[in-house]
Amino acid sequence: MTITTHSLISTFTPPHHTFNHHHHRHHQLKPPLKPRAQLSLTTPQPPTSQPTPTTTGVIVIGAGLSGLAAAVRLHADNIPFLLLEAADAVGGRVRTDTVDGFLLDRGFQIFITGYPEARKILDYKTLDLQKFYSGAKVYYGGRFHTVADPLRHFSDAIQSLTNPIGSVFDKSLIALTRVRVLTQSDEQLLSGEETSTISLLKRIGFSDSIVDRFFRPFFGGIFFDRELETTSRLFDFIFKCLALGDNTLPAKGISAIPEQLAAKLPSNSIILNSPVASVDNSDSIYTVTLKNGEVLQSEYGVIVAVEEPEAVKLLAGEWNMDNFCSEIKQPVRSTVCIYFSAERSQVPVDDPVLFINGSGRGIVNNMFFATNVAPSYGPPGKALVSVSLIGLYEDESDEDLRVRVVEELSSWFGPDVAGSWTYLKTYRVRFAQPNQCPPTDLRKNSKVGNGLYACGDYRTSATFDGALVSGREAAEALLKDRSLVRAS
Ligand SMILES: Cc1cc2nc3c(=O)[nH]c(=O)nc-3n(C[C@H](O)[C@H](O)[C@H](O)COP(=O)(O)OP(=O)(O)OC[C@H]3O[C@@H](n4cnc5c(N)ncnc54)[C@H](O)[C@@H]3O)c2cc1C
Repeated sequence: MTITTHSLISTFTPPHHTFNHHHHRHHQLKPPLKPRAQLSLTTPQPPTSQPTPTTTGVIVIGAGLSGLAAAVRLHADNIPFLLLEAADAVGGRVRTDTVDGFLLDRGFQIFITGYPEARKILDYKTLDLQKFYSGAKVYYGGRFHTVADPLRHFSDAIQSLTNPIGSVFDKSLIALTRVRVLTQSDEQLLSGEETSTISLLKRIGFSDSIVDRFFRPFFGGIFFDRELETTSRLFDFIFKCLALGDNTLPAKGISAIPEQLAAKLPSNSIILNSPVASVDNSDSIYTVTLKNGEVLQSEYGVIVAVEEPEAVKLLAGEWNMDNFCSEIKQPVRSTVCIYFSAERSQVPVDDPVLFINGSGRGIVNNMFFATNVAPSYGPPGKALVSVSLIGLYEDESDEDLRVRVVEELSSWFGPDVAGSWTYLKTYRVRFAQPNQCPPTDLRKNSKVGNGLYACGDYRTSATFDGALVSGREAAEALLKDRSLVRAS
């Protein structure tokens, strides 16, 4: 029996499990690709009276950015697939909740427009990207000091030359670092000589002042690692992307990014609320068993696009795998994000600027008024305050953290201001990013077994872009191995 993806899903899962798009599209097979095996989406004859497993071309497990990118690549070649996701929506770590009319991203995230893969796969215009100021305000010595990108805010940068955040020499080293990263390819930066970020900064000659007051809070906030032990390769890559693009937020929340990718896929190919329990391979048939006991099979293989700790649980021990390390580097990178609402009149600045803590004291690493960047993050007249800490603070309750944060920000902005904000919600993200301290391999091959591919940020750079690249590459490796690549 030949079945389409549409009928396949409807026999497999109740309609509420499927991803609902506004436009209902059906999967249509284009003319056969060359060279390729005749694609037969067939249901094998059941050996026993067991229910017949659903069969498709490829099964992708995990609908974060990497799984979505893999699915988009498969779909571009009309390969039938199912994308199985444990959660109730796509996005993985890139999700946004709507609470009382506020858009709350699950942890502070910035979309850098300079990401090379993102530029290719995303439609920036539709994302309606809202820009941050290119630079930051550093809290140090009881006041704020501006650090500005001289190419975008020249006069601010000149004025900031003499501030205490770093010497004039430090600021010239930033310009030299920019030239160094811009004159190398991404490939070179991601696979070149590496050390920790902190060692690189010292080797370049940056002073302790600029390291402690700017690099620790700024890049520590990106890596969730104030020690800056993260590989210099990631520092170089992100430094380059920052130089090439803007820091932004999509007007509809960070989840607009995965949602845009999901909207490119056939509406019934994404199956939500479907955690996978195991992946097996015998006689060249790949079997995926869901936690609810349902079984799916794929003809060409399986792409595992789950976060590293889940991938280790799902794969380690079961497969004789090349190129897959079952040891997770510790500590994994965690963060806490605390949201407050305010009247717009209770916000001390209008600038769409990131505030970072260069004082070396307190628990706040960075904060910003999200509605200054994207007014759509709050209902009319209201402001959204987003405060980020590095680490998980497991021993402290949400209430304790709230009190500490308000106290700390009262010294930044005055008790009348910070004391007037209303607490909204706390997000604790245990696995925000994998630990990417040296030695790293940020270009891991996606093939981990016969017909088995792994992708995700832990296999490349722990960024949106790294996840997107690794998903595409996993799909391409499968297409190549199965001779499904369209003849050019
Ligand atoms: C708070 C925070 C801030 C960040 N800020 C930035 C930033 O500013 N810039 C940047 O570039 N990057 C940032 N990142 C990193 C970036 O979000 C990640 O690198 C990227 O989203 C990882 O995508 P992924 O597909 O590899 O994994 P994930 O997004 O983790 O996707 C994995 C998916 O697999 C699903 N899954 C897991 N187990 C199973 C199972 N058994 N069965 C089915 N499905 C399963 C999960 O539910 C999830 O949807 C941030 C991350 C966090 C958490």
